[in-house]
Amino acid sequence: MAEKKSDPIVVIGLGRFGSSIALELAARGSEVLAIDSRPKVVQSLAGRITNIATADATDIEALRQLGVPDFYRAVVAIGSDLEASILATSLLVELELEDIWAKAVSRQHGQILHRIGAHHVVFPEHDMGERVAHLVSGRMLDYVEVDENFALVKTHPPKEFVGVPLGQSKLRRKYGVTIVAVKSPGEEFTYTTADTELSYGDIVLVSGRSDNVERFAELP
Ligand code: ATP
Repeated sequence: MAEKKSDPIVVIGLGRFGSSIALELAARGSEVLAIDSRPKVVQSLAGRITNIATADATDIEALRQLGVPDFYRAVVAIGSDLEASILATSLLVELELEDIWAKAVSRQHGQILHRIGAHHVVFPEHDMGERVAHLVSGRMLDYVEVDENFALVKTHPPKEFVGVPLGQSKLRRKYGVTIVAVKSPGEEFTYTTADTELSYGDIVLVSGRSDNVERFAELP
């Protein structure tokens, strides 16, 4: 069997989510094969994605003709049409792609995608909703849960940590979090050291258990 293309990625379903993925991958220099069943969608993206095709991803022959079996990695970004999402994912499993990502719109949808062989299931609406909930209810500038109960937060330093070298601040002992990077106004993010002293206008990246980073971000 010919070696599979390890870098190129197939993106199936070019709604808001799928087209963002395809465009971002293309912008980052990955080779992308983008597929959608609606000619209008394909036309509107054709200038920005070189390798794009109108095809029904629930048709295994169409996928074969496009060379999909040669790919190593694919994303199924069909959401509202559950039948198409499940069928397209199962065909990619049948075609033995080794790294299949699929978007789910509900927990049950996600379970089915996992059971039929998707290697990664993502819940963009759910995850973004959770993230925005953290942002609107607190003072954080950004919040990413990197694992269950472990988060990375972008926020301003609480006043008790301003003007004290981090090495002397007892930050980890008191709040169970680590400030991993700092950005002063007009500058770029840089790693912190034990000697770093924070200022009021700084933005910090804080990592730690979700409850700890949230508590830290609430400090005055
Ligand atoms: P988004 O939120 O990303 O805009 P969505 O969750 O509403 O999308 P859908 O509209 O179901 O998802 O699907 C996204 C895209 O997938 C659409 O552009 C649609 O044309 C395409 N699509 C749906 N079924 C198929 C299929 N069988 N083959 C290829 N593309 C498909």
